[in-house]
Amino acid sequence: KPQLEGQVALVTGASRGIGAAIAETLARNGADVAFTFASNGRGAEETENRIRSFGRKSLAIQADSADPDAVTAAVEQVVEAFGRIDILVNNAGIALGAPFEAATREEFDQTFAIHVRAPFFAAQAAARHMGEGGRIISIGSNLAERVALSGLSVYTASKSALTGMTRALARELGPRGITVNLVHPGSTDTDMNPADGPFAEPQVALTALGRYGQAEDVAASVLHLAGPGGRSITGTAILVDNGANA
Ligand code: NDP
Repeated sequence: KPQLEGQVALVTGASRGIGAAIAETLARNGADVAFTFASNGRGAEETENRIRSFGRKSLAIQADSADPDAVTAAVEQVVEAFGRIDILVNNAGIALGAPFEAATREEFDQTFAIHVRAPFFAAQAAARHMGEGGRIISIGSNLAERVALSGLSVYTASKSALTGMTRALARELGPRGITVNLVHPGSTDTDMNPADGPFAEPQVALTALGRYGQAEDVAASVLHLAGPGGRSITGTAILVDNGANA
């Protein structure tokens, strides 16, 4: 029997990139998968089709993570449609990288709204409906633990906040049997950070394994945390960064 059979997952930001790979991996392993996206309806349709190709139910919800009402409404919509929610994956993210001196309040607020506030209130809404075995997994960044390149102050601050929040929620939700963890990708080939982009070379140079990551590598660790193998893991992070932080 597939390890996530009978479970319902919500993945934020799954119209492309790492989120799309997570949605597909969870569906391939038996979960029904709802997901959000910001504006890319075509990408959302492709993700829906992939989820359905595994014989699983899918639900695409346009919900801007910068709007906390939209995030909590998305959680409620999933519970309404599928009757439950077992796995929440906070993945939606942006990279507005600017040098420290040029960073604006707008960039700061937008980044924290999407990377910190949205995961917080999504977790709050989802936890209300989760029972024993519930899983909350956020996609952080290896930058939350070590910063080897410049121009990333706001982004890194937000991912570090997400790390502290994850530890605190693990304590709050542990008594109910719900685990809360992070997966920290390193440089991963997506629209956000293409492997053939102008900043790729120095990123590869930092890795122990000498290569860029693929979205599927991140999804595999999310699956581990979401499945039975993750039952004793909480309040921590898995680094999927090809050894960049080693
Ligand atoms: P992409 O830019 O490739 O994809 C981002 C996804 O998030 C899209 O589905 C996008 O929707 C959605 N999204 C963006 N903003 C919002 C929003 N305001 N509301 C709802 N959905 C939104 O990014 P990645 O796949 O690379 O990144 C995924 C996560 O991984 C992020 O949290 C990122 O910080 C993290 N990460 C990525 C790394 C990398 O090297 N790629 C490294 C470390 C961490 P739409 O298509 O509609 O725009």
